[in-house]
Amino acid sequence: AAELIDMNKWYGQFHALKNINLSVKPGERVVICGPSGSGKSTLIRCLNRLEEHQSGQIIVDGIELNDNLKNINQVRQEVGMVFQHFNLYPHLTVLENCMLAPMHVRKQPKNVAMENAMAFLERVKISEQAHKYPSQLSGGQQQRVAIARTLSMGPKTILFDEPTSALDPEMIKEVLDVMVSLVDENITMICVTHEMGFAKRVADRVIFMDAGEIIEEGPPDTFFNNPKSARTQQFLNQIL
Ligand code: ATP
Ligand code: MG
Repeated sequence: AAELIDMNKWYGQFHALKNINLSVKPGERVVICGPSGSGKSTLIRCLNRLEEHQSGQIIVDGIELNDNLKNINQVRQEVGMVFQHFNLYPHLTVLENCMLAPMHVRKQPKNVAMENAMAFLERVKISEQAHKYPSQLSGGQQQRVAIARTLSMGPKTILFDEPTSALDPEMIKEVLDVMVSLVDENITMICVTHEMGFAKRVADRVIFMDAGEIIEEGPPDTFFNNPKSARTQQFLNQIL
């Protein structure tokens, strides 16, 4: 769960996020869309403090994000992130990528971490590649490993930042299928994506951002069929 109250973020003089109010319930699935530069990545990066906010409040799973390092570490244990460019550790095998944080952060014994990691690699249908290095895999395969790595920590929340936008078209589906399969778990999902088919199928709520503001939000059918704001309509016309 996440709660943002009158939250503002600046990069120097540039006002990147303007008075954001947003409440995401536990287990809720939220899709964020909007034009390039509208602040989508900045918003989700603030949720695990990869970026700092300057005013207002961000409360993630009951923990307020502020300068308190203990809070930040606590939140990062429960909030996973999947990036556009996968960000796997290149010098570790697929399996080792999925064992690292469970061993070092969760203090799982090696055999437990290995079993756990293999189960998640099976889940994303890539266990046969467990001993390869990331560079030996396709983009779609690497992204599935990144999802397995995130799942291996048992997160309450997963943040996705355009997880399919660096992939060739034929690989997009295999990653989206894995993301759709997460719906059965009770994981809060906040996804920046322009995959509107995914949004219609999976999202409880779609949020449209423009110029650092949340312009509109609603359940997918209302959002897509009956957008209120002209800016939302214009955006949807461009991408649909
Ligand atoms: P995209 O769809 O291209 O990924 P976005 O909606 O994710 O865009 P952000 O990356 O959040 O947008 O950026 C929002 C604004 O903040 C942009 O104008 C960007 O140039 C600016 N910005 C982002 N990161 C920084 C930074 N580290 N320093 C200064 N400005 C930044
Ligand atoms: Mg972005």
